[in-house]
Amino acid sequence: MTTIGILGCGGRMGRSLINAGLAAGATIAGGTERPGAELIGTDLGTLVGKAPLGVVVTDDAAALFAVSDVVIDFTAPVAAPSHATLAARTGKALVIGTTGLSADQQAAIVAAAGHAPVVQAANFSLGVNLLSALTRKVAAILGPEEWDIEIVEMHHRHKVDAPSGTALALGREAAAGRAVDLEAVSDRVRDGHTGARTKGHIGFATLRGGDVVGEHSVIFAADGERVELTHKASDRGIFSRGAVHAALWAAGRKPGLYDMADVLDLG
Ligand code: NAD
Repeated sequence: MTTIGILGCGGRMGRSLINAGLAAGATIAGGTERPGAELIGTDLGTLVGKAPLGVVVTDDAAALFAVSDVVIDFTAPVAAPSHATLAARTGKALVIGTTGLSADQQAAIVAAAGHAPVVQAANFSLGVNLLSALTRKVAAILGPEEWDIEIVEMHHRHKVDAPSGTALALGREAAAGRAVDLEAVSDRVRDGHTGARTKGHIGFATLRGGDVVGEHSVIFAADGERVELTHKASDRGIFSRGAVHAALWAAGRKPGLYDMADVLDLG
């Protein structure tokens, strides 16, 4: 039976991951929280309203790696590089769902993947991974001369990074479909007198409010018609089930940086 460690186990996703891990028949090896967090010492089963599991929340990530076959990180960008270093040091598999990483933080993940299997995805749902594949295909068909691409996302009021990691990943797919670099064509913010839209650019718009789990639309707009590809998440369970699926797939695999297309064999 695979043992799964959960970094950030007290968070929205952390709690959902405990439930998803148990539902998948995995053993929960333990979980961590920020040093000083109130939840430290709480049993992980109690944390999700279930019978005690006999493992408590700690702030010791190294000890968690030692007792886990695979560790899942849905924490914060600042924490992700040290977790990746622990994966590299122990060779244990790591699944990273944390978004909003800087280039330096991302470089630490890539370096760790030279020594341990790492699955990283901005979105672990099956639907969004299909949406990504469709976005690339449609962007390749609907060319920039006539078709403008805009990506709109909405999340709950607590989300701290924008645009969402998923929106940026969809932008990269759209750019790849048109064989261009997203960085060269993205309009991430518009405010004031921006001038007319630049042909071939990919625009982003961010909405925040309420308890929205996550909604993404890729809009292809031309004169006289519009094609919209939309995914709406109404339950974080889709992410945690996907992440646990990725964890079970990754445990014991050879080092490398993998994504959900690898896990789901989407080609
Ligand atoms: P959250 O704030 O509810 O949970 C994060 C938890 O991590 C908190 O409990 C926090 O205390 C804890 N944490 C922070 N630093 C830590 C550290 N050093 N060690 C241990 N724990 C630490 O946030 P959330 O909604 O659960 O989202 C977490 C991350 O996952 C965000 O980056 C979010 O964008 C991302 N996310 C990704 C997906 C996906 O499918 N890839 C889906 C949802 C959310």
